[in-house]
Amino acid sequence: MDIITQLLRFHEMLAPVLETNTFYKQKLTEAGIKNPNDIQTFSDYQQLPFTTKDELSADQVAHPPYGTNLTFPLDYYTCLHQTSGTTGSPLRWLDTRESWDWWGKCWRDIYAAAGVTSADRFMIAFSFGPFIGFWSAYHGAQQLGALTIANGGLTSEQRIRAIIRNEVTVVICTPTYALRLAEVAEQEGVNLSNDAKVRVTIHAGEPGASLPATKQRIEDRWGARAYDHTGATEVGAWGVMCRPQAGVHLNEDEFICEVLDTDTGKPADEGELVITNLGRIGMPVIRYRTGDYVKLKATTCECGSKHRILDGGVIGRIDNAIIVRGLNIYPATIENIILKFPDVNEFTVRVYRTETLDELEIQIESTNRNPTETATAVTSAIRNALGLRTIVRVVPHGTLPRYELKSKRFTDERNL
Ligand SMILES: [Zn+2]
Repeated sequence: MDIITQLLRFHEMLAPVLETNTFYKQKLTEAGIKNPNDIQTFSDYQQLPFTTKDELSADQVAHPPYGTNLTFPLDYYTCLHQTSGTTGSPLRWLDTRESWDWWGKCWRDIYAAAGVTSADRFMIAFSFGPFIGFWSAYHGAQQLGALTIANGGLTSEQRIRAIIRNEVTVVICTPTYALRLAEVAEQEGVNLSNDAKVRVTIHAGEPGASLPATKQRIEDRWGARAYDHTGATEVGAWGVMCRPQAGVHLNEDEFICEVLDTDTGKPADEGELVITNLGRIGMPVIRYRTGDYVKLKATTCECGSKHRILDGGVIGRIDNAIIVRGLNIYPATIENIILKFPDVNEFTVRVYRTETLDELEIQIESTNRNPTETATAVTSAIRNALGLRTIVRVVPHGTLPRYELKSKRFTDERNL
């Protein structure tokens, strides 16, 4: 969608928001916007104030439980979800029937780009807790008309059996859980790439499916193609991976996206992703600072989509880059190095401070008969890639935690 069409849709959304949404009415009025027509060009749009997560959180704390970013009376809303609260207190987010259908549409765009159709059979492997990602994936699958196998509350063993028995072709889960399911299958004597009919896996919640090592591992274990998807509770499902898999497209039909330099705030090829969603009038975000660090690709995609493409999806969270001895390190970078070693089953990373020095310690579970060999190799791979000295320890198999949703493999114990 071109910028004129985007701005027209933005106007449609702004009209009710400026009337009845207390949060944005105040914020935009202070910025001199009284009427949608005050924004005529993209440079007008770029003058609008940012919205931050801290601001939304503070609003919900001051006006519990949902805050004032509400365009309609409460009884008009039909779904409530909340963020995981990994950074700060959880945000509660409401959707109307219309905005929930819009979420479903965004997921249908994701399915279409991956070549998934109503003939596919879905398992959305998830506990169906308050996290929005997989609920909205389910709504999209229902809109698509694909058979979807209910599995909330099942064990991993039961899920594997259901995937085989029902000839599931599409599995949607976090990358961490895809690998966990594969591990459980192996323990059960099941070879997923032979015994299951899964041909596509779609991953959300973590960057794994855009990390070459993690993606490769998922594809090898499942005998399927792994797709990354990116999004956020408060924003929507904004990222789409197409079949050439050259990165993650921004869904510019449904979102206005900017990439801004983290120092200067000016448009850049690399920086923070800032988004306005166009289909969530009941509880929108306008120029929202996602905290996602991304890199735009200069080339267009061979799939023919005009939507811009992000190299490597979301590279990291701006607020979770770990600074160790002056080096800025994203957890995803370390994951991508460690999972290149096929005998490493699971790992954790801990950063702590001795008297004066930061230490980064990695624990690995390895199937190598001589696991210290792997530990030495991981140590030198990290030193070569990042110039960082680490301590790598081998722990017995089954010692480290496994996860169904997002992994919590990184801990920073430094109280900085
Ligand atoms: Zn493409």
